Amino acid sequence: MPGKIIRFYCEYCKETLAIHVTESLEKEFKEKANKWPYPLVYPHSDHYAIIYIDGNWQERGVVCSKISYKNEK
Ligand SMILES: [Zn+2]
Repeated sequence: MPGKIIRFYCEYCKETLAIHVTESLEKEFKEKANKWPYPLVYPHSDHYAIIYIDGNWQERGVVCSKISYKNEK
């Protein structure tokens, strides 16, 4: 569905960013989100934003991090 946008403030970018809710993202939320708000991880630049999103694509809290960890096996 066109026109759906998630807006949130990124503390590292120091600006409000917008994510366009594509059909594939919407589909993924419908399939996988088992609770609301549900967090979306948005990597950009040199950091990550974890955006909690409710069923109306409204932001319900954001945390930003420059650190991620992957256990290589
Ligand atoms: Zn940012």
